[in-house]
Amino acid sequence: MPPGSEWDTAALIVADKKYVWHPFTPMAAWCAPDHDPLVLVRGQGALLWDSEGRQYIDGNSSIWTNIHGHNHPHINAAIRRQLDLVAHTSFLGFTNPAAIRLAEAIVGLFPPATLSRVFFSDDGSTGMEAALRIVEQFWRLQGSDRAEFVAFRDGYHGDTAGAASLGANVMFGNDSSEWRPPVRQAGSIADLERLPGREVERIAAVVIEPLVQGAAGMKLWPAGTLAALRAWCDRTGILLVADEVLTGFGRTGRMFASEHEDAFPDVMVLGKALTGGYLPLSITAVTEKVFTPFSVSGGQERTLFYGHSYTGSALGCAAAIASLEVFSREKVLHNLGGKIDLLRQRLATIDALSCVREVRQCGFIAAVELIASESAFGEAVCLAARRGGLLTRSIRNIVVLMPPFCITESELVQSVEALRKAVLEVCDTPAMVPLALL
Ligand code: PMP
Repeated sequence: MPPGSEWDTAALIVADKKYVWHPFTPMAAWCAPDHDPLVLVRGQGALLWDSEGRQYIDGNSSIWTNIHGHNHPHINAAIRRQLDLVAHTSFLGFTNPAAIRLAEAIVGLFPPATLSRVFFSDDGSTGMEAALRIVEQFWRLQGSDRAEFVAFRDGYHGDTAGAASLGANVMFGNDSSEWRPPVRQAGSIADLERLPGREVERIAAVVIEPLVQGAAGMKLWPAGTLAALRAWCDRTGILLVADEVLTGFGRTGRMFASEHEDAFPDVMVLGKALTGGYLPLSITAVTEKVFTPFSVSGGQERTLFYGHSYTGSALGCAAAIASLEVFSREKVLHNLGGKIDLLRQRLATIDALSCVREVRQCGFIAAVELIASESAFGEAVCLAARRGGLLTRSIRNIVVLMPPFCITESELVQSVEALRKAVLEVCDTPAMVPLALL
C-alpha cells in the first residue's frame, strides 16, 4: 500500500481478476498480468480519483450517465433523506411518493398533448424492452397485425434480447440470435419512403436515436431527419419510438433531443442521466393514444405483463427528482450553452491534426475519428489520455469526449488538450504504433 493510501490496490486487482467478469471486456486481456486496471474510489464534480490517489477528469461522464458531477450535495442529500425513510418497496400493487412525484415532474417537461404517462424500468435496455412490449401489445389490442419494427443501421438500443435485436446483435456480430422480434433495418428516411404499401402496413413502430447515433461513434443525423420521420409516421399511422437514453437530460443542449426539431415521439425511452448518473433507473414514456388501449376496462389482455423487481425504486426516483431540481437551481441548460461553444472552439485544435479524419459535436457530445482505422489506435489514445489525467473510452477508432455538464471551463480546456496530446502521441509518431498492432 502506498503511504497514506487506505486502499490496497494490488490486493484489489488480484481479487478483481479472480472473481469479477467485466462487461464488453475480453477477459483474457483484462486478467493478463501486465494489465493494470484503474480502481476508482472517489469523485467530486467532474473529477475522479483512483486508489493510488491519482486525479482524473471524467471525460465520458462514467459511461454517459453523470451530468451534474459526482458527490453533488443536493442529490446526495435527497438520497440520504429517502434512505432514512425506506430504500425500496414493491411497485407491483403498491406505489411510493418518490415515483409519483418523479412521474409528474417528467410529464411536466414534455409539451402539452404529447407524452403523458411513464413506466419505470432499471436501465436503458430494459426501458427499450418495455417500449417494444408496449408497442407490440398496443397493436394486438386493436386487432392489428402490425408487428414489425424498423430500426436504423448502426443504431444501438441496449443488450437485452429484444433491444439487442434492434441493433446490438448486428453491431457485435451476434446475429445468430433467434430471440428477436421481427426487425427491418433501414438506412435513411428515403429507404422508408420507398417501401411498398403492403410492407408499410406490417410495421408497428420505427425506433430512432434522435440527432445522434451514440454507439455508432457519435454519428450525426442530417438536420431535419427527425422531423421528416415524424411526418412519415404521421402519414402512415406507424408509431415513433425515440431512444433518448443517451440524448435525454440536456446532452444535446436542450432537455430532450426531440425538442430540436419539435418532433416528439409516441414513445420515449430515458435512462442514463435520469438520476444524474447516480442510480439505475429508466423510463418509458407514452402518449395518451398509446396508453388508452391498456386503460379501458376489459380482460387480462389489457394488462402489460412486464416489469422488474426494482421498478419504481424509491432511491432512484429520489435521485432523479433531485437531479431535475439541480437543472433549475443551477440554471444548468443556460450555463451549458457557453461550455458547448467553448468545446467547439477547443475541438478545432484537434480537427487541425493531420491524423484526424473528422471531429463531430452534438451539444456536449464530442467524438474524434482517427484516420487510422484499427480499434487499437482508439484504445491507445485513451491510454495516453489517461496518463494525461483524462478518462474516456473509444468506439473502434473514434474517441469520445463527453464530460459532466458541471465541468469548469478550465477543466474543459484541460480535457481537450489532454485528448489532443494523446492523439498526437499515438497517431503522429510513426515509432509509436500501438503494441497490439506490432
Ligand atoms: N440506448 C442508447 C441510445 C444507448 O446509448 C444505450 C447505452 N449506451 C442504451 C440504449 C442501453 O442502456 P443501458 O446500458 O443503460 O442498458
